[in-house]
Amino acid sequence: MTENFKDWLELDLEEMEATMVALGESKFRARQLADWIYKKGVFDFAEMTNFSLALREKLAEQTKIGMPNLYSLAESKRDPVKKALLELQDGEIIETVLMQYSYGNSVCVSTQVGCKMGCTFCATGQAGFKRNLTAGEMMAQVLQLRDQIDGTRISHLVLMGMGEPLDNYSEMIKFIKRANAAWGLGIGYRHISISTCGLIPQIRLLQKEDLPINLSISLHAPNDKLRSQIMPIAKRYPIDDLLKALRDYTDQTRRRLTFEYNLIDGVNDREKDALELAQKIKGMLAMVNLIPLNPIEGNNLRRSSKEKINKFAQILNDQGIETTIRREMGTDIDAACGQLRGKFL
Ligand code: SAH
Ligand code: SF4
Repeated sequence: MTENFKDWLELDLEEMEATMVALGESKFRARQLADWIYKKGVFDFAEMTNFSLALREKLAEQTKIGMPNLYSLAESKRDPVKKALLELQDGEIIETVLMQYSYGNSVCVSTQVGCKMGCTFCATGQAGFKRNLTAGEMMAQVLQLRDQIDGTRISHLVLMGMGEPLDNYSEMIKFIKRANAAWGLGIGYRHISISTCGLIPQIRLLQKEDLPINLSISLHAPNDKLRSQIMPIAKRYPIDDLLKALRDYTDQTRRRLTFEYNLIDGVNDREKDALELAQKIKGMLAMVNLIPLNPIEGNNLRRSSKEKINKFAQILNDQGIETTIRREMGTDIDAACGQLRGKFL
């Protein structure tokens, strides 16, 4: 082996097999190790009882399973939501949220430490960018949170934690493929959702992958003028180009998109904004999810009133756009978008 301490979480099954062979072992040990990690949630080689003592020692000496430290765990008193701060091997702190719904357990995964996109309403965006996460670090978040509920199955993943998933494209794709793989977490693509601020070239790459995942687009405004006030990315990728790329995407994948729309008081919540939005996306294979803004420190953006939110939804529905209002979960533990980490730092 070239590297000391190879991290098994960074490998797919084939790479695990090659590593076992490089260690002088049979290839089938790789699948056994994957079973320990992904099926049984065992991260200590010493507990892997179908391996000889010699193999357990060799694995401990030359390789590792790079789990982050659980730095803190907050549990919501109102909702079935837990939020973890995890400390990575280099000391960076990220957050991961677990939601226990009646239909299954869902983990909200971070894809970067920070984010380059600088959206004004977002705590992660305001804190700036540190680095990309590796596929293994994304996987470790799921394993760590599953461990907090005694290994109960995780059935859904949402890539809506810190960071812009499509700005870390190759690691993100590796991660979802391993999450889906039978040797990995075995989570169906239809239960995996990616949220993006709308990076057009990467949306086109994703289209080529042709995976039946769910794609959410953080739109938040019906035109470039308004959008660029709160999302700098709108200056690079005009909304009409974005919508064109998304139409191509759904033409091929036949998967319905979700447009996310944060309602910010007096900024993007007027009736004419709703009408313009309806005009823009009419006929698309898409629905709208309205999200009451979670105010953050450091700006004066406030959430729209309940009445305005309901009115906005009604206009969209009247225009034939299927619209839902997001139920808020875990706001008592700041389980939204980089807020807990922000306070901690
Ligand atoms: N970077 C991706 C995914 C992470 S953000 C994206 O932007 O889509 C996930 C979602 O949280 C996005 O829709 C984002 O707009 C939303 N969000 C960020 N800050 C928020 C806040 N303060 N209140 C409500 N939603 C917020
Ligand atoms: Fe980044 Fe998404 Fe936050 Fe925008 S909303 S700064 S893209 S994490």
